[in-house]
Amino acid sequence: MPREDFIPLQYRDYAYLEVPLPLPGTQATISCPHSYPLFYEPLGLDQGHRFLEVGTGSGYGSAVAREIVGAEGLVVSVEIDPLTIAFARANLEGTAYRDIVLVQGDGGLGYPELSPYDRIAVTAACSTIPPPLTEQLAIGGRLVAPVIEQETQNLLLLEKTAEGIRTRVIGEVLYVSLRGAYAV
Ligand code: SAH
Repeated sequence: MPREDFIPLQYRDYAYLEVPLPLPGTQATISCPHSYPLFYEPLGLDQGHRFLEVGTGSGYGSAVAREIVGAEGLVVSVEIDPLTIAFARANLEGTAYRDIVLVQGDGGLGYPELSPYDRIAVTAACSTIPPPLTEQLAIGGRLVAPVIEQETQNLLLLEKTAEGIRTRVIGEVLYVSLRGAYAV
């Protein structure tokens, strides 16, 4: 997935540096390149999965996910900022993936219309994992989210089983804060 196609013109020379870069909108960034495997590998994102992303940003994460889940899977991505989602929509129009479902709204509420999801990635930092997201996760599903604990943000992996919810910390990260009903 050509990352430079998801970056504003003035920053394209930096497309492959391990840094987040600014996007149109309030507080939106394209995350640094390693953050996509950091999220998608513990998720075990795979072919055929129904995937929900909270925070579309550039659209790059959605495009990479669509590449992984394939035509049998589904990618839904929710972005709260109208300028940012317009940028993502324009970027995704340049790809082969016209079937990614982009929704403008509060991703903390998920997108119940197309739930349940096998995998969910929250790409903005929250103080707790928004309950609607756990509800919209299928049994056997996994979710990753940066969760603020005191001064640090920990990337949490949550697994939902028939017996209950398990979480573990993957590592420390730094993301922009979640807005909306579950704002920090
Ligand atoms: N996944 C993105 C990175 C996004 S940065 C990418 O690959 O480029 C975090 C994004 O979350 C920002 O665009 C911000 O506007 C968005 N955001 C913040 N709060 C949100 C919310 N409640 N619902 C949906 N998007 C939200």
